[in-house]
Parts: sequence; C-alpha cells; structure tokens
Amino acid sequence: MLLLFDIDGTLLQSHGVGRRAVEHSLSARFGRPIDTSSVTFSGKTDPQIFREILSDPSIAGDLPDDLDVAVRQACEAYARRMHETWDEATVEALPGAVELVRALHADGEPLGLLTGNLEPMAYLKVNRIGLGREFPLGAFGSDHEDRNQLPLVALERARQLGALDLAAEHLVLIGDTPRDVQAAQAVGAKSVAVATGRFSAEELEASRPTVLLETLEAFDLASVA
Ligand SMILES: [Mg+2]
Repeated sequence: MLLLFDIDGTLLQSHGVGRRAVEHSLSARFGRPIDTSSVTFSGKTDPQIFREILSDPSIAGDLPDDLDVAVRQACEAYARRMHETWDEATVEALPGAVELVRALHADGEPLGLLTGNLEPMAYLKVNRIGLGREFPLGAFGSDHEDRNQLPLVALERARQLGALDLAAEHLVLIGDTPRDVQAAQAVGAKSVAVATGRFSAEELEASRPTVLLETLEAFDLASVA
C-alpha cells in the first residue's frame, strides 16, 4: 500500500494565499487587475488553473499566441510570487493531519504526496506544518496538468525507489475534493475523501469515495487495507 496525500484542504489550509499570488502574478503580466473569482481552484493542478484563466476571454482577453508557453510562464511567475510571500502567509494544519502523517510514518507506512501544486510549492507548504521528510516521493502539478495522470506518476516513482510489486490498486489517495476521488477511480485505486476543504461530506459522498471522513482525526488504516 502507498498512501498519497493531497495538500490544500487535506493537510493544511493557507487562507487564499495561493489565489492572491495567482492574481498578483497575472496582474503584473497584464498590467491591470486580474480577478479570478469566477474560477474554482479546488482539486485542480496549478497548470490547469492557469490554462483555464488564460483561455477565458472574460478574464484574460485575447488568447495568447502560444497557450502552452503562456501557461508555463504564468506558473513560473506564480511560483516566484509564492516564494516572496509565503513566509507571511497564515497556514494552518487541518485537524489530525500532522499527527496522522507522523504516526503512519513512524509505523513504517510508505507515504507520498499527490497534489496539483508545483513540486517546490508542495514541499514549501508541508514544511510549514512541520512535515516533509515523511513524503519521499510524490506526483505534482508540475508532472502533469491532468490530476488523473498523477497516480501513475507516483506509482512509477515508488517502483524506482524499489517498490517493484506495487500496483495501482495498492494506492490510496487522500484528498478533499471529488477530483481527488476521481483521480483514484481513474486507475482503480482507493480513495479517502475528507470534508476539511470546500466540499461538504454530502458533496464528497456523491463522488463515491472508498472512505468518507469529516476530518483526518477519524482515519483508520484498516478501512483502506
Ligand atoms: Mg485539495
């Protein structure tokens, strides 16, 4: 088994610092205020978020000549802004998250990250709640724009680290959105949906996770074994 944790809304919440960095970096690029309130970020990868914004004429105006290049540049500008502002961000670990990760790690359970964040941002974030070394591998928004592709990226990395018998059905994705559940379902993995992000337990239930929790305090390894 390999337990793969989402970050935002699952392990921690950072009170809109990401959205502010997105808007700041895009406002600098366009030379006018950019409002992204019409775009949902939850469960999406960072490149996916920028592609949506840059493709939306009501936000970004004309489509850039090369959308792929524009997405990449926007991600880079966003990452720079996050590094500039992160130290002042208000970051809170979500209930049970740090305790759970530390306990699983102490028990020798293989852990990883599976998140839409760009890789450097992912570790920047978990470091703020005292985690990081518990996650020797991960799959990130910088690996693929489509979250549904990320479980297989994580699986490949685990195999490279020696987990040769690991298969997709042995993965457990732990996240706060229906997109986390769908990414698990896309490869036949299990999912733990936790209602500490923007989605209620009822909304998450509709996506049919393997296990549904109000918070990570109630996590039970036996329920996904
Ligand atoms: Mg999330």
